[in-house]
Amino acid sequence: MSDIVQYEVRDQIAVITLNRPEVHNAQNPELLEDLDACWTRAAKDDEVKVILLQANGKNFSAGHDLAVPEGKKDVFAGFDWDTRGITGQYLWEQSHYFEYSRRWRNNPKPSIAVVQGACIAAGLMLCWPCDLIVASDNAWFSDPTIVMGIAGVEYHGHTWELGPRKAKQMLFTAEKITAQEAAKLGMVNEVVPADELRDYAYKLAQKIAAQDLFSLMMAKRVVNQTMDTMGQPAALQAAFDVHEFQHAQCLIRSGATSAVLTRDVSRLKKSNEKS
Ligand code: ZN
Repeated sequence: MSDIVQYEVRDQIAVITLNRPEVHNAQNPELLEDLDACWTRAAKDDEVKVILLQANGKNFSAGHDLAVPEGKKDVFAGFDWDTRGITGQYLWEQSHYFEYSRRWRNNPKPSIAVVQGACIAAGLMLCWPCDLIVASDNAWFSDPTIVMGIAGVEYHGHTWELGPRKAKQMLFTAEKITAQEAAKLGMVNEVVPADELRDYAYKLAQKIAAQDLFSLMMAKRVVNQTMDTMGQPAALQAAFDVHEFQHAQCLIRSGATSAVLTRDVSRLKKSNEKS
């Protein structure tokens, strides 16, 4: 495993730390795969009662890493996909975006996301699956994917986390929600001063770790099963498919599966024309 996701166990708490601060913890395939491995490791470790997900640097996560690899035509060019349709992208996003978030949400042990600074688009897919979210007073959340021709990230937590009206406003306007507003809406548990964030979250994790593990697991399960009974899994899967449908729409209209990728492709075409 690389150093871009750090893992350590202290006081029966698995501390998982995103460690790409130089790119604001943008999520590349390696980061996501390592992160998923950490979640699984914590689930299997009998010593662990609570999972704490935090991020180094000023910002929690800037979302998916959309940097175009050197010499590649777009961000997904490194993948061995059928480029005539969205089959490859659908399967990739299902396994690495949607199912990862679902799996983290269904991890049997309690989890806490510790969020500072920006949490943009796919950043939400890292914190929403956690059971609790503690945010610094300078944290903010946004899903501006509408500017890419997409109505929200792959994991549609919006409506569940914010309620339908605020979810629509977030998607329609692409504007930020502050930590304070997110707390008012019930998406964030606690807002604390930035310099106290990690200590506060760690103490909260210790408080939880003092409880019996099986009781914690059942407490989590009873809440999650309530949402499952309300139809959350089917609603999330349906929203994921709508998301993919929009990638197809972008592809038909522009030759790339999102507006951002289109810009990359057109830039590449221009540079090719010059050379
Ligand atoms: Zn997507």
